[in-house]
This record gives sequence, C-alpha cells and structure tokens, in this order.
Amino acid sequence: IKVEPYRPQTFTDFSLQANVDAYHAALAKVRAELLGKHYPLIIDGERLDTEGKLQSVNPCDTSEVVGSTAKATTEDAQRALDGAWNAWAEWKTWSMDARARILLKAAAILKRKRLEACALMSIEVGKNYAEADVEVAEAIDFLEYYAREAMKYSGFGASETTWFDGEENGLLSIPLGVGVSISPWNFPCAIFAGMLAAPIVAGNCVIAKPAEDSGMIAGFVVDILQEAGLPAGVLQFLPGVGEEVGEYLVQHARTRFITFTGSRGVGLHINEVAAKVQPGQKWLKRVILELGGKDALIVDETADLPAAVTAAVQSAFGFNGQKCSAMSRLVVVDSVYDEVVNQFVARAEALSVGTGEANANVTAVVNQESFEKIGKYIEIGKGEGKLLTGGETPGECGGKKGYYVQPTIFGDVPGDARIAQEEIFGPVVSVLRARDFQHALELANSTEYGLTGGVCSRDRARLEQARAEFEVGNLYFNRKITGAIVGVQPFGGYNMSGTDSKAGGPDYLGNFLQYKAVTERF
Ligand code: GLU
Repeated sequence: IKVEPYRPQTFTDFSLQANVDAYHAALAKVRAELLGKHYPLIIDGERLDTEGKLQSVNPCDTSEVVGSTAKATTEDAQRALDGAWNAWAEWKTWSMDARARILLKAAAILKRKRLEACALMSIEVGKNYAEADVEVAEAIDFLEYYAREAMKYSGFGASETTWFDGEENGLLSIPLGVGVSISPWNFPCAIFAGMLAAPIVAGNCVIAKPAEDSGMIAGFVVDILQEAGLPAGVLQFLPGVGEEVGEYLVQHARTRFITFTGSRGVGLHINEVAAKVQPGQKWLKRVILELGGKDALIVDETADLPAAVTAAVQSAFGFNGQKCSAMSRLVVVDSVYDEVVNQFVARAEALSVGTGEANANVTAVVNQESFEKIGKYIEIGKGEGKLLTGGETPGECGGKKGYYVQPTIFGDVPGDARIAQEEIFGPVVSVLRARDFQHALELANSTEYGLTGGVCSRDRARLEQARAEFEVGNLYFNRKITGAIVGVQPFGGYNMSGTDSKAGGPDYLGNFLQYKAVTERF
C-alpha cells in the first residue's frame, strides 16, 4: 500500500464568508435529510430495531428533537458479541494493509462529508463551528494515522528483535479478539471513530457503544465505515444505556478488552468489574481508560500576560469546558494575580452565549444531568471562593430553552476546595493564588488527576522545572492546554486520569495487540 506521510488536517477558516455559507448549507441539508432520522442497531451487518429508543435533543433548544437511535437490550449485546467472535475468525486473517485501506477510504468519505458532520454536531451536542470543525478534522486524522500505524505491525518479525546466530527470531503481533468501545458525547465523532478504528485496524472486532446523548453522529460515522467496506460483524453498532448493555459487556466472560473514555467514577467501576474473572473466562481483560482531569494553567510574573489570558479563555471555555483537557484551575502568581484575573474576567464577560449553529462562543451544556451537576458546583463554589463573574444557570437564551450556564469564575479558591479538586465539566473556573512559581507548581500538582497542564512563563529554568515536575500526560507551555492533534500531541493522562494509553500516539495500537516471540533453530 502506498500512502503519503501522515499530515494532520488543516482547519476550516471561518473568517471567510464562503466557509460560513458552506456551513449553513450543510446545516440546511442535515436538517432536511437527518432531522428525525432513526439509527437502528447494526449487528452482523443487519440493521435491527428495538422496542426502546434513545432520543437526541438539541441542548441549545430542547424543543428540537434531532433524531433517535435504537436502545439495545442485553440479548442484543449477547448477539453482538457472538457475531463479532464469528466475524473475527476471518477478520484476523486480513493483512494489515487490507484493513488499513478501509480506514483510508473512510477518511476520504468523511472529508467529503466534513461540514455535514460538523452541522450534525452543532445541533446534537451544541458545538460551534470551530469546535465542530476541529473535531471532524481529528476524526479524519485518527483514521489516517491509525491506518499508517497498522503497517508497522505487518509481517513476521516486524517489531525489532536482536539477531542471534543460528536462529531466526521474530516478534509476531496478534489481535486480541473482540472488545467493547464505550465512548463519550463530548467528542462524539473523533473519539468515537478513534476508539473503534484503532482496535479494528489492528485486527480486532469491536462492539461500539456510543454515549446516549450523541448516537446520531455515531450512526453517521458507522455508515461511513460500512460504505468504506468494513465486513459484517467487525463493527457492531450497539447504542444503549451504559448501566445496562455497557455493564453486561464489561462483565462478560467473552469480552477480551474494554476501551472507555468518560468519567473517573464510571472508569473505576469498569476497572473493578472487568478485573473479576467470570466462569469460563480464559484471559485477563485488557482495560484502557481515559478519564477526567482537573487541569491547571500556571501564569507567573514573567509571562506575556495578554497571551496567557487568551490561553486561559480558550482552555476554559472552548466547548463550554466540556473537555477532559479543559482548564478548570487557573493558578496565578500573587504579584500579577489582580491584573491577570481582571483581564480574564473581562474576556469571559465578552464571550457570546447562544446556540452552536449561531456560532456562539459558549453554548448550552449537553443535558439536564450535566446542567444540574454544574449548577450544584456553582452553589458549592459560592461558599468556597469569591464569585467574580457568572454564577447563574438561566436555562434559556434568546428565547430558546436549553441547558445554558453562564461562564463562571471564582477567585481566591483554596487549593483543597471541592471546586478546586472535583471535575465539574462545565464553564466554571477556580482561580488559585500562588505565593510564587514553586507554590504554583505545588498547587497544580495537588489533585489526584494528571491529564493536561500548562505554564505561561518566560523563565527558562521554570519551564524546565515544570517539564520535569508537572504531573500530567499532556503539558503545554505558552499556549492553550486543549486541542491535542493526532500524531503531534499523543493524548492521555496518568494517575486518576487514566491508563496513559496515548490516543493518536505511536504506541496506541499496541493496546489492542498481544505478542508472540517465535524462534526457529536452523
Ligand atoms: N483530546 C482533547 C483535547 O486535547 C480532549 C479529549 C477529551 O476531552 O476527552 O482537548
């Protein structure tokens, strides 16, 4: 297979009116063709409907039902699992190149449908233009990148082993079998695609359970993979409720691996359930977890302060803080605290709030549960820090009912406050005052999470200290702390943020392979 070297997609420039017009045209097409559409289950290539339904509602205008998916039962999950194992018998014999071609073809189709995917996410989860566009670019990148990564593993002895006289030695990489991919609503196109494309291209079969709030964009991606020629049974599409079908598959003796992106609480539960060996189970389940964060950006007195404030605003309020990489703590050195905080508050107050399709800076949060949770934390915050801006959860905007939360900033928050320790997953920031840089680093490291972090400073020695001591999986200097690019910034955290499996990195496919060293003495 011949491919050009991997290069990430460029982003669409929405300062050009032609691109905005194209976006609106895509939105009109999506409304005409997909609004009200129902995505059934896909098991062994067959579309099957269920009695129950999961509805997708526009979070920015809850009177708009976007569409629905089927709601799988545990019997459906069992069929999906059996079918996937049957399909695996053949899929595992395909060459890496042949499997990779399907991802490349899917990437090509998604490139053609890029704006439609964006528009669908604007109405299904409330993404504005840039957030949606960056995400679809990331989905294409995952497909392109993992296709190329797969080639590393083709052939006997593709992995490096040392020569030994008189023998032929090789390290074979072997797919694991059938696993389940449980993906989140916050990157319902990119992370959904990445979490199934990687295991599939490595030769596994996958049961994909999308998040309940974003089944339509998941169905859209699955249709593209089918169009690209994925054989029946290799990808089973199983929208359903996590506590029902997710739980069933996680505990099942025939599940070989589980890849999950979501909250710390659910991740720990999966880890525990998967660790228990079931009757008839003959392997240790592999569990790959990408969990939450309580990500901090440090600003010291040497920093370019306006640039640092821009980084803080982008990191905190991009997609309303609904990213595990989002900055939820801003740690500022005392001597510049007032200046930074004043600018940060002013910039937050200037953000527009509205719908994704109107391209507001801040849109509605994803659902009622998130809305209530964020509201509760805002109330907790009022007792723990100084409310500097926001603090209201109006639940409507411009006459539209939706899960609207004001961008909210609390100042002088103690490091051990709940709002400085617990993941809120909304547009809420705690600002912490540090005596000096050393103290700032201590505060930044004082959570159980370790996902993203950043430092804005011009002091070389401090940047080097942070490089060594800041306990995060993704560390950024003098820029925002969100928006990792596939292949450029392999993404994932450690400590309670997950198994550090580094999506979009050179070792990611190894999560879905096992190895056999084979030696022949001549
Ligand atoms: N990869 C995304 C970023 O770097 C975050 C992914 C997530 O929120 O799960 O911003």
